[in-house]
Amino acid sequence: MNIHEYQAKEILKGYGVTIQEGIVADTPGAALEAAKELNKQTGTSWYVVKAQIHAGGRGKGKINETGSNGVVLAKSLEEVAPKSEAILGGTLVTHQTGPEGKKVSKVLIAQDVYYPGDSEPKEYYLSILLDRAKGCNVIMASTEGGMDIETVAEETPEKIVKEWIDPAIGLQGFQARKVAFALGLEGEAFKGMVKFIYALYNAYLGTDASQFEINPVLKTSDNKILAVDAKVNLDDNALYRHKNLAELRDISEEDPLEVEAGESGLNYVKLDGNVGCMVNGAGLAMATMDIIKLSGGEPANFLDVGGGANAQTVEAGFRIILKDPNVKAILINIFGGIVRCDRVANGVVEAYKNIGEINVPIIVRLQGTNAEEGAKIIDESGLKVVSAVVLKDAAQKVKEVLA
Ligand code: GDP
Ligand code: MN
Repeated sequence: MNIHEYQAKEILKGYGVTIQEGIVADTPGAALEAAKELNKQTGTSWYVVKAQIHAGGRGKGKINETGSNGVVLAKSLEEVAPKSEAILGGTLVTHQTGPEGKKVSKVLIAQDVYYPGDSEPKEYYLSILLDRAKGCNVIMASTEGGMDIETVAEETPEKIVKEWIDPAIGLQGFQARKVAFALGLEGEAFKGMVKFIYALYNAYLGTDASQFEINPVLKTSDNKILAVDAKVNLDDNALYRHKNLAELRDISEEDPLEVEAGESGLNYVKLDGNVGCMVNGAGLAMATMDIIKLSGGEPANFLDVGGGANAQTVEAGFRIILKDPNVKAILINIFGGIVRCDRVANGVVEAYKNIGEINVPIIVRLQGTNAEEGAKIIDESGLKVVSAVVLKDAAQKVKEVLA
């Protein structure tokens, strides 16, 4: 689960990570009040207005409606409300959001920590994530802060340092110092960075996160180390033991079809293609997506209805696939092991009747337990459903209906 920058910074602060302070607001008026409060708390008279969406690249991204960037400076209290207004309610498009962008409903009003006139602010990259191949957490750091780490990895991989953490021993003092040293820090800034890394690691462990990315970490000219940005990904499987973190979920940032599928207990991932598919079992779902590609289509989704699929789950899956306007054909590929094919067939017929007019061709392949009964139900339903017996046949039929 992803969370917003303002939520992530709140967590970081709780673990003693030094941050660029800020207050979240959802109207231009509230943004002004937030700035006044920040001025009281920190003495700052320059502010940064930051769009809160679950995507990076906001600084360079643009609001469709107004042309404003997603992160802008306000050099006086007077500028705060109008600059917030140019962002709030707009659609922010960044290289991470895709062309459709994301709607902004909150801004973080933060203190400007690149002090006015400061000639020496220095940005670093720091992240902690799970290295699945090595089976342990890794700290990644780079002097190339503010840049996309993917770009750094591609163009100047030698500028990324990695420090793997032994899960049995935990983060060792020498490791934090090694990272701070590799960033070229000394004196107060060096000590600040070591502390920062420790606190960040504790936050990462304490929240059962799978990724913390701080880009940039800032070194101010007076040698303070601050988290200016914070992207946090929490492990969904651990949320049951973090009720307070689970509450940070922002459903409006998630794909509505995926949310609906989750509520019906379906494992659905939206993709960009034109052939919807409904399959039982993740392995068969992957194979079905391959078949769709081989037949010249592109999968519109991954959908595993699970081993115990019944008429209701099939109907829910069907509805979700049909809500995707890109879908030009649907391939249902069910192997009846625990689930019986006649049940699935009934689910398809029921769904078809309940949903009403369905304009896309449907190819159904039912194999396994009660496959014949299933095929009979489909054939006798009078619906415009093409049944296929073997997968190759199904692929051929997908090809035909797409042609
Ligand atoms: P992102 O573009 O979504 O990664 O958002 P960030 O929070 O990283 O902000 C983008 C950029 O805005 C940063 O890389 C900084 O260069 C700049 N920025 C953020 N906070 C401040 C600030 O307090 N003062 C100034 N001058 N620039 C800032
Ligand atoms: Mn950033």
